[in-house]
Amino acid sequence: MSGYFAEIFSGAKSLASGMGITFRYMFKPVVTVQYPHATLKMPERYRGHIELVKDPESGEPKCIVCGMCQRACPSGCITVAGDKLEGEKKKVLSKYVLNFTTCSLCGSCVESCKPGAIQFSREYNLASTRKEDYTIDLLQRLREQR
Ligand code: SF4
Ligand code: SF4
Repeated sequence: MSGYFAEIFSGAKSLASGMGITFRYMFKPVVTVQYPHATLKMPERYRGHIELVKDPESGEPKCIVCGMCQRACPSGCITVAGDKLEGEKKKVLSKYVLNFTTCSLCGSCVESCKPGAIQFSREYNLASTRKEDYTIDLLQRLREQR
């Protein structure tokens, strides 16, 4: 009989202990969000895949198609191309594709870009079962952000 009461006491003690923890956390600041309905703002130093940077005046990519990022990438992830338009002295960016499957986020491309035309994005929501989703057309992405 005494074992029966000991078990009830132990259960009640465990329940009270659990409820104590629940109540304690009810009054603490919330540190989680209801993903995917809510998302967190990633910190400045977060490294998502690279992205093109817009010229604030023209709204066009700052990229001058020098190809330095492509040459600096140890994994060969970047494909850059430009067109020379009639009457223009400089090339205009026509293609900027990133193969994110082999990118190690090393930052060599960002460091090699003297005009500051690429930066790390804050993108973290990239889960997919399709390999093609990791070949990212960064020029199209920039245009869609307008
Ligand atoms: S290094 Fe910069 S400016 Fe040169 S091609 Fe790459 S992104 Fe464009
Ligand atoms: S972060 Fe490194 S691996 Fe990724 S694209 Fe840039 S240079 Fe290549």
